[in-house]
Amino acid sequence: MAKEYIRGAGIHASGTIALANKTGNWRLVDPTVQNELCNGCKICSQFCPDDCIERLVVDKSSPAGTPRIMIDMEYCKGCGICAQECPKKAITMVKIEA
Ligand code: SF4
Ligand code: SF4
Repeated sequence: MAKEYIRGAGIHASGTIALANKTGNWRLVDPTVQNELCNGCKICSQFCPDDCIERLVVDKSSPAGTPRIMIDMEYCKGCGICAQECPKKAITMVKIEA
């Protein structure tokens, strides 16, 4: 039986639980992935406080530039931690135009 994955329910170092915290319309920046730089290491996912980065199943023979992660923007808070921690500098925080 497939394990149910509840996004945003990660328990964090602060001892708090991000209970299905969907983001409102207040995020100011979006993490944007440069797929050609991303190697799918998933370090960004391990650091994301809202547990909203998923590694996609990608065949090793897939060409460079094939998306290897997906960010669920319904839960992303735009904190930029993923961009900070990515060893390949594959994530850029892009300001959302009003
Ligand atoms: S940390 Fe960077 S290289 Fe690794 S999966 Fe995330 S975006 Fe890709
Ligand atoms: S910006 Fe913050 S909340 Fe959004 S995916 Fe990156 S680490 Fe997670």
